[in-house]
Amino acid sequence: MNEKRTPLKKTELEAIAAKYTTPFHLYDEKAIRENARAFHKAFSWGHGFKNHYAVKACPNPTILKILHEEGMGVDCSSLPELVLAEKVGFRGEEIVFSSNDTPPEEFIEANRLGAVINLDDIGHIETLEKSAGISEMISFRYNPGDTRTGNVLIGLPQEAKYGVTRDQVIEAFRIMQAKGAKRFGLHTMVASNELKNSYFVETARMLFELVVKIKRESGVCIELINMGGGIGIPYRPDDRAVDLNEISAGMQKLYKKIIISEGLDPIKIVFECGRIITGPYGYLVSRVRQVARKYKDYVGLDSCMANLMRPSLYGAYHHITVPGKENWPASHIYDVTGSLCENSDKFAINRPLPEIEPGDLVVIHDTGAHGHAMGFNYNGKLRSAELLLGEDGAVKLIRRAENIDDYFSTIRFPDAPVIV
Ligand SMILES: *Cc1c(COP(=O)(O)O)cnc(C)c1O
Repeated sequence: MNEKRTPLKKTELEAIAAKYTTPFHLYDEKAIRENARAFHKAFSWGHGFKNHYAVKACPNPTILKILHEEGMGVDCSSLPELVLAEKVGFRGEEIVFSSNDTPPEEFIEANRLGAVINLDDIGHIETLEKSAGISEMISFRYNPGDTRTGNVLIGLPQEAKYGVTRDQVIEAFRIMQAKGAKRFGLHTMVASNELKNSYFVETARMLFELVVKIKRESGVCIELINMGGGIGIPYRPDDRAVDLNEISAGMQKLYKKIIISEGLDPIKIVFECGRIITGPYGYLVSRVRQVARKYKDYVGLDSCMANLMRPSLYGAYHHITVPGKENWPASHIYDVTGSLCENSDKFAINRPLPEIEPGDLVVIHDTGAHGHAMGFNYNGKLRSAELLLGEDGAVKLIRRAENIDDYFSTIRFPDAPVIV
């Protein structure tokens, strides 16, 4: 059982709401830093171990800077993410570029930054060669096909659009070596929000065995193994968090058995996790606009799926608490909804909660990754502010809320002068 608490009491949240208005995402700096340290510590046996934080999970420069200070790199998958990483101060191989269906200009930018380029497709070799040129260091994303099962969020590997296949992977490294690449990495990402420890140990086994096979069949020595992201978090109070120490110990055992015994040590091991790094330390704070009684009882919030899309998109569970009513019995069953004209705009369905009244604050938990970042403007909805609860207890605005001028900023009205 993991208790879902907020780092602040109702009175403190009300004070923040009075200053910044609701809704807002609030991130807990102290918890993020402690968690980042614990993550690195768990794998400290690994040669050059580092997590490359998946920028897409929370592309806010303040959050990225905190993680950089804690020794993390970044995983980028688009030009704007590369630019953001550079602006925050990430350099060279602190940056991994893991994209798919990639345009040439993104390879050029990744190459300019000296990032580790992780190719998703064997056809990208040509795109890379013609745009950025063959880099000294190259990595491939491996898709194991039907030898592994994925999970609900990411689907079966053989149905996934990502990565080079088992038949292609050796050839891919051979080609790159023939073209002059000197240093090689191997990457995979086969799960999303996975909570089973053994899954990640098995991923390590798969990659370690593949490294041996690549060496034997092509002579290519892999120096970097990227285990991808996808470590899950306990969104539900009765979910069990992964045990990083158990995953790490399992990996270390296999590293000795497979890599060291083949004389392939040292190989650098990295992850590119987003969710487990910041997910549990973000909160979407909203205010109740209305409580409506129809065929069911609805709690209508001042946020909507533009602020947090996961429940509507994947039916994902996010825990909800009502500040000040933490100890009230969960005596009422509500659908907790947003204001978007889509019936899927629900944060929770048939959720037992304390009796709720208009004006109550509501906290939606675990929004620190894949939360604000997935927002959009459909239905004229505007994205909220992001706030940081600093280590010193002070609250800082780290992204303002969108306003109506932002909404209109990209539009050219029909009678406007044509700008050439
Ligand atoms: C989304 C993504 C990640 C991060 O996934 P998490 O579930 O946040 O850990 C890492 N790598 C790639 C290639 C991704 O697409």
